[in-house]
Amino acid sequence: MSEQTHSFQAEVSRLLEIVAGALYSNSEIFLRELVSNASDACDRLRYLALTEPGLTAEDPDFAITLTADKDAGTLVVADNGLGMSRDELVENLGTIARSGTAAFLKRLEDQSADVNQIGQFGVGFYSAFMVADEVTVDTRRAGEAAAWCWRSDGKGDFTVGESADAPARGTRIILKLKPDQKEYLEPERLRRIVKTYSDHVAVPVRLTGETENLNTASALWRRPKSEITDAQYKEFYHHVAHAFDEPWLRAHFKAEGVVEYTGLLYIPAQPPFDLFQPERKHGVKLYVKRVFITDDCAELIPPYLRFLKGVVDSEDLPLNISREMLQNNPLLAKIRGAIVKRVLADLKKRAEADAEDYGKFWGAFGAVLKEGLYEDLGRREDLLPLLRVRTTGREALTSLDDYLARMKEGQDAIYFITGDDLEGLARSPQLEGFISRGVEVLLLTDPVDEFWVPALQSYQDKPFRSVTQGALDLDKVAGGADKPAEDGEAAAEAPGLDAMIAFLRLTLKEQVKDVRASERLTESPVCLVADEGDMDMHLERLLRQHQQISQSFKRILEVNPRHPLIRALSARVTANGAAAELEEVGHLLLDQALIMEGEGLPDPAAFSRRLSAAVARGLVPAGGTAPAEEDGESAGKKA
Ligand code: ADP
Ligand code: MG
Repeated sequence: MSEQTHSFQAEVSRLLEIVAGALYSNSEIFLRELVSNASDACDRLRYLALTEPGLTAEDPDFAITLTADKDAGTLVVADNGLGMSRDELVENLGTIARSGTAAFLKRLEDQSADVNQIGQFGVGFYSAFMVADEVTVDTRRAGEAAAWCWRSDGKGDFTVGESADAPARGTRIILKLKPDQKEYLEPERLRRIVKTYSDHVAVPVRLTGETENLNTASALWRRPKSEITDAQYKEFYHHVAHAFDEPWLRAHFKAEGVVEYTGLLYIPAQPPFDLFQPERKHGVKLYVKRVFITDDCAELIPPYLRFLKGVVDSEDLPLNISREMLQNNPLLAKIRGAIVKRVLADLKKRAEADAEDYGKFWGAFGAVLKEGLYEDLGRREDLLPLLRVRTTGREALTSLDDYLARMKEGQDAIYFITGDDLEGLARSPQLEGFISRGVEVLLLTDPVDEFWVPALQSYQDKPFRSVTQGALDLDKVAGGADKPAEDGEAAAEAPGLDAMIAFLRLTLKEQVKDVRASERLTESPVCLVADEGDMDMHLERLLRQHQQISQSFKRILEVNPRHPLIRALSARVTANGAAAELEEVGHLLLDQALIMEGEGLPDPAAFSRRLSAAVARGLVPAGGTAPAEEDGESAGKKA
């Protein structure tokens, strides 16, 4: 087949421009990425050869070889791993956008990531263009006769054709080094880079002509803890997780007995970009007797612990286990159970030892761990003590137990409010009555909060209650009775309140389910709440954003009987009965409540007209030519 030219996918092109163009002091990481790919290719072939031994019969020992050719100015990275078919070559190295490409580009551009992190985004291969102005890939897939050659200068397109010069099996990557990158031809330099980044890659890395390995090439997790240094643990973490931070937690354990396995697991300090993406990779790798089986085993780690990185190596699973056999495998289920238990116990220890330090973990992964509260009912008792929440009036995170301990006398529920962000939530009018009574409310801002709270229903016999839903009986709570005293007469309930409420019900009957006096409000004139049994307002908004529902529920408008505006309106309704102008005020009140909820207005033009008219009325001096003013004491002035 003749050579064909393909264009890089647009985002890949853009990425290459950045990678190739900038001057990076740490360009050496290209070697880590190419060695990592070579070792993955060896791992994958070793696994396939378990069921098809012929694939590796002629050349059973895996190795990665580095060749520096000073005359040609090239560095060659070769492996005898799986290799790539023609289609794989075209897909993997150019035309299919990988999920991380766009995310990585964005972070490079806003400088929240640097090129060093390229491997985490699943596009490590392209780091070759940091040091090379031309890259050639000769590859032959194990078991296939045909071999293919990919070549590019990283400027928009690449060619793919038949290769006359591919290894018998695996991949050879030839880097034509840029004039200022010739340091990568020095054996000493290469030696140091491999030692630094790839010491625990399980495949030996060698320089051509040398028999000695540049790396330790052993399964680090199999070695006794006492023989492993912190630096080695960290290097291994960087390698398995494609991460570059200091891991927040490390757990190295060996189980002996009914099931035998070794685990070396880490929790990163920083959340990876794809924590909430279904196609995420680089989780925990499953090995059987040191042979890599898969890094994509849903049965090994439950989704709510998906922030874990590292390896689990089983002694008991059969070596020739297929990915299908891993499903519903009782041995694997046992391992999974034991790992979950171990990790949750470690988290508990860390939480008890240092709240601030635990807060760092919680900030990164709390939203993920909370999924366990409804996904893994059997672990609920272990998960609940690990839960942390923000509450009104406190800077620090709090546990549910601490919340219970601070509950007010007479308080018989755990109050919560859900929303998109803390600042917005803390300003919610529905919280006013709670704050003034010193009743703490949980401020829940993760989408997952909409699921675990209803799933749990109660904690230590105290039901969870949304402050934006249903009627309240806050006066039972200690401190409730003395609340209005300080404002004296001004804070008394509005005379004529019932008539005004009846008037609003009539005016707004198409828009709201009911109108009633509120216990929740102390500052704001109005707010919206969901009726008992109706869908929570924030949940409804979330579901609408995700096109899960299209209808919206009618809400209850609550009015603050002590607010000057409500008092004035009550007085006017009592004195004048229904008037067109008062109806306008009724609509404005509802619009205000919607705005405070973060809802769009059904008719912004009408809102603007009403608001302008009301403000104009308020601005015209008493006795002036105010339109249709019967007395100078308008509601607007009093407010
Ligand atoms: P990642 O390794 O995270 O998948 P890369 O950009 O490093 O991302 O590599 C892209 C893909 O190219 C790999 O997933 C693999 O399929 C293929 N690939 C790269 N190098 C090799 C190699 N040496 N042997 C076989 N396949 C390779
Ligand atoms: Mg890679």
